[in-house]
Formats: sequence, C-alpha cells, structure tokens
Amino acid sequence: YNYNFSPGEQREEIKSKLVKDVMGIAITAKSTANYSEVLSKLFIYDVGTIFIVDENNHLAGVTSRKDMLKLSRNADGQNLPIVLAMTRVPNVIYIYEDELVSDALRKLILHEIDCLPVVRDEKDGKVIVGKISKTTLIKLLLEMLEG
Ligand code: ADP
Repeated sequence: YNYNFSPGEQREEIKSKLVKDVMGIAITAKSTANYSEVLSKLFIYDVGTIFIVDENNHLAGVTSRKDMLKLSRNADGQNLPIVLAMTRVPNVIYIYEDELVSDALRKLILHEIDCLPVVRDEKDGKVIVGKISKTTLIKLLLEMLEG
C-alpha cells in the first residue's frame, strides 16, 4: 500500500491513466499466413491473441486461442488460411492511444474479450500501435496497490 497517496488520490491517478501509458506490444500476423504459422506465434510470443493485418499493414482481424481451437478440428486445418479463423473488421473492438484505461477496461468487460488492439487512424485503415490485455490491467492494478 502506498502511504504517500490517500486512497482518493490513488483513485484519481488510476482514473487519469491513458492507454498509451500502459499499452503492451501487439503481436501480428499477415492475412496471407496459414493456421500453423499463427499457431506457432501464439507459443513463441506467449500471447493469447494475434492481430491480423492486410497487405497495407492495416488491421484486418483478430484471432484468439478459441478461434484456433475451432480450426484445429478440421482435418487439413494446418494449411488453411488464418482468415478462416478470425473475427474480422468491422467487428473488431479497438481503442485509441489517448483514451482512458478505464474505457479500455469497460470494452473488455462489455464484449467479453481478453485483448484490444490500440490503433491509429490512417487514410484507408487503422495501424496497430499496441495492445491492452487483461494482463496489462492486472499489472497496473498490482503497481497501484504496491505504490
Ligand atoms: P479466447 O478465445 O482465448 O477465450 P477471447 O475471449 O479474447 O479469447 O476471444 C473470444 C472471441 O472474441 C474470439 O472469437 C475472438 O476472435 C473474439 N475477439 C477477441 N478479441 C477481440 C476484439 N478485440 N474485437 C472483437 N472480437 C474479439
């Protein structure tokens, strides 16, 4: 517990945190990748969500562990394109860098998802600049509790 701040002050500090202050590194794969390439990224980077980008590096979709599990039941799943196992834009929920962390948290809860891409608008799409995951928020909570 941080005795330098009153509980009220601590709450104000958490409430004013921005997404860009706490976001993590997003792991991406190309929309041309196949199932097994994306699956190995899940293990190599030890993440639960991979963001899929198109040929312009713009957000195209998101693949989670459960999405991959579904495709794995297919006999020749290993060679199938990852686009068959992703939630596609415009159904992807995202957040901007200058939004509040509490808004990111609200989106995770509301949509029952583990991870949000942090994006920046470009002319014909959105580039991914980071991610906010449940782990990001648990780390933040611990930091706050320990001062
Ligand atoms: P898991 O599948 O490991 O439980 P999630 O709960 O995050 O992970 O994913 C559940 C479903 O929600 C999956 O079908 C996934 O594609 C989708 N999903 C995950 N993140 C997002 C997001 N940011 N926007 C929209 N859909 C998402």
